[in-house]
Amino acid sequence: MSDCLFCKIIAGEIPADIVYEDDKILVFKDIYPKADVHLLMVPKLHIESLAKLDQSHNDLMGYMMLKLPGLANDQGLTGGFRTIINTGKGSGQIIFHLHIHLLGGKNLPGF
Ligand code: 5GP
Ligand code: ZN
Repeated sequence: MSDCLFCKIIAGEIPADIVYEDDKILVFKDIYPKADVHLLMVPKLHIESLAKLDQSHNDLMGYMMLKLPGLANDQGLTGGFRTIINTGKGSGQIIFHLHIHLLGGKNLPGF
């Protein structure tokens, strides 16, 4: 997707503060952090949102979920962490490349 911001970050065309990368996913710091730790995990495959998933994404989504606790631990979030996935305009999704927010640290507001 040539006009997708997160695809451009994945391609290295736009800089980001990357904390983890492998062949399937990229994890980088949110540019406007809403908590002490605020990371975004994205699949390298362009998928618009959860609403566009199909069975072919089963392994990838499982892979992403299983990576989250280790990433949170590496960020020092031993007391817990919050994950958020916005899906669609009505949810507040502004970047239409599937991403998981990983949030934590002190002063995490109630939800
Ligand atoms: P959404 O509302 O779509 O779930 O979240 C998109 C997130 O992307 C927001 O938290 C926003 O701060 C973050 N964001 C937007 N533009 C950039 C950018 O250029 N770089 C980084 N690292 N994060 C961005
Ligand atoms: Zn994309």
